[in-house]
Amino acid sequence: MTQDFYETVACAICGSREYKVVYPATRKVVSQDQIIAMFKSSGDEPLTEQMVQCTQCGLLYVNPRLKASLIIGGYSAGDDAKFVSQEEGRMRTFVRCLREIEWYCPPGKVLDIGTAGGTFLAAAQRRGWIPVGIEPNKWLCDWGKRRYGVDIRQGTLDQQHFTPGSFDVVTLWDVLEHVPDPTKTLTDVAAMVKPGGHLVVNYPDMGSWIARLMGKRWVFVLNVHLYYFTQQTMKKLLDKVGFDVVRVKPHLQTLSLGYLCFRMHAYNRFLSKIGQTVTKYTMTENLQIPYWVGQTFVMARKR
Ligand SMILES: [Zn+2]
Repeated sequence: MTQDFYETVACAICGSREYKVVYPATRKVVSQDQIIAMFKSSGDEPLTEQMVQCTQCGLLYVNPRLKASLIIGGYSAGDDAKFVSQEEGRMRTFVRCLREIEWYCPPGKVLDIGTAGGTFLAAAQRRGWIPVGIEPNKWLCDWGKRRYGVDIRQGTLDQQHFTPGSFDVVTLWDVLEHVPDPTKTLTDVAAMVKPGGHLVVNYPDMGSWIARLMGKRWVFVLNVHLYYFTQQTMKKLLDKVGFDVVRVKPHLQTLSLGYLCFRMHAYNRFLSKIGQTVTKYTMTENLQIPYWVGQTFVMARKR
C-alpha cells in the first residue's frame, strides 16, 4: 500500500539515474492526511525521506519521493494562517529584493510563481510594477485577493494561458526546491520571459557554509524540499533552460522574533517554548528581525 505513494525519479538536470545515498529514509508516508499536513507553505517537518546525490552532475534531491500528483494535491488543500501572519516581515524582504531587481530592470510586467498570499505582488505594485501571481492553494489565493486586490490565478503555470514572452521578470521565491520537476518548471517559465528579460530565484543553498556546518540538522533540510541546490547546480540548471546568471548574493529574510521562535520547534521544542514565552512577556513578539541561514538570491538574464 505505502509503495503506491512513491516514485523513483531521474536527475532533473542531467537525466542520470545513478546516485549515491546522502541520507537514508527514516520513515515512510502512509496516509493522504499526512501528505496534506506535510505540504503546507509553512511545512517545517525535518527530512525523513531519502536524499541522494547525482553521481554525474552533483545535484542533491529526494529519491524515491512521493508522486508529483500527491505533492501538488498537498499544496492545493488546507489553510495556512500561520504563513500569512508574517506579512510585515515578508513585505520588508520583498521591498529589499525589488530594489535589487530594479538595478537591472526598471518596473514592468512581473509574474510571481507560487505567490502564496501575494505579498510580493502588493510590494511590486506599490513600486510601479504590473504584477500577476500564480498559486495552487485556493485558501491563500482568496486571502491575497481580498487583502491586496492583486491579480492571483489559482493553479499551476501549465494551467494558465499567458502570451509567451510577455513578462519582463519572472520570480520564484522559495519555490524551486518544492517543485517536482524544476527543469520543466523553468522551461515553462523561460517561455514567459521576454528575450533579455530576467528570472529571479531564491533558494536554500546547500553549498553555503552554514548548510555544510549543520548537515542534516540545517533548518532547510525538510520534507517539503525535494531539491537541494548549490550555486554550481543552480547555475547548471539555469544555463540548461537558457539563462545566464548576472547576480548571486545571500538572501536576507525578515520575520518576527515570535515567529522565528515558533519555527524553532522543529529543531528544539524546549528552546522554542522558552523563546515564545519570553517574547510574549517582553512584548518583542512582533520585533522584525532580518536573518540569514543560507538562503541565496540569484538573478539571471534570458539569452
Ligand atoms: Zn545529474
